[in-house]
Amino acid sequence: MQIDGNVIVCDSIDERGIGILKNAGLLVEYLPEISNQELITKVKDYDVIIVRSRTKITKEIIDNATNAKIIARVGVGLDNIDTVEAQKKNVEVINAGEASVNAVSELVLGLMFSLSRNIPIANNATKQGKWIKKDLIGIELKGKYLGIIGLGKIGRNVARLARGLRMNLIGYDVVPIDKSFAQEVSLITTDLKTLIESSDYITCHVPSTEQTKHLINKEMLSIMKKGSFLINTSRGEVIDEQALIDGLKNKKIGGAALDVYEIEPPTNKELLVLDNLICTPHIGAQTKEGQELASSVIAEKIIQKLLERQAESNQT
Ligand code: NAD
Repeated sequence: MQIDGNVIVCDSIDERGIGILKNAGLLVEYLPEISNQELITKVKDYDVIIVRSRTKITKEIIDNATNAKIIARVGVGLDNIDTVEAQKKNVEVINAGEASVNAVSELVLGLMFSLSRNIPIANNATKQGKWIKKDLIGIELKGKYLGIIGLGKIGRNVARLARGLRMNLIGYDVVPIDKSFAQEVSLITTDLKTLIESSDYITCHVPSTEQTKHLINKEMLSIMKKGSFLINTSRGEVIDEQALIDGLKNKKIGGAALDVYEIEPPTNKELLVLDNLICTPHIGAQTKEGQELASSVIAEKIIQKLLERQAESNQT
């Protein structure tokens, strides 16, 4: 069935989703570099607005989006969309949370291996002609305790992969963790403090909310096991970066790996010069497979939603 409607794509997305939308009859305008100012003037022409993370869908944009029915985020977090305003204007906000689960989980493992085996340091030194083999005694993941904060889609997938590496798992979530899942991966559930005190590696998989802002703060960092590692691929606000800098400087923490920052791109020189910190530029979902999946999942969801609306309006 063909669907009428205009779609604007405001950020770069995989072409697969665009093809699906066009095949369904929708007119798609691909403007991945559009500025917010330009979007404010154009947005009234579209039924669907598609973004990744670059474009911020503010109240002003929503006020001008007088024909919008759907705002779609090709990814997970909705922090770049004013969802409260969208709801007030009866604009549905959808995302593709499931698409990047594996991509993020594999990055977490990559960061854990990189921290444990000093891979970035080894790479830099070897390329500079320094043979520092004797300085690079690593740590094995097998048998270590991995604390997972947030057992949602990504946290659970990380647990399954880490179990395959024969790590011991500890989990904390604000909602009760499914018992059969915990049994499947032999996960011990506990409170946040106990998780932090007991883990050799800690990985964060919570959303950015008022409750999770600086969840990992000075106090929590101070109770980490000496030499343990912290990984954050969730949202920058979850960790108090200044407290992390202090913990890394005084070597209380063995090392940290960040894919996300309080300000992106990160500007804090004090943070970026630390040699026990590994940084990646928010690449958690940046895999070929993840991007293809996200754009096609979103396209299918948009078509489904528009068909539902079409059917409703035909009935009335
Ligand atoms: P999810 O919604 O499936 O799971 C989040 C879990 O966190 C839920 O189980 C929830 O109950 C729990 N939670 C919420 N508040 C909590 C709190 N205060 N304390 C403990 N647990 C709490 O989300 P997901 O898809 O697993 O994504 C997890 C995080 O990863 C999100 O922040 C998301 O934005 C981020 N993410 C990052 C990238 C990247 O590129 N680095 C890509 C995708 C997702």
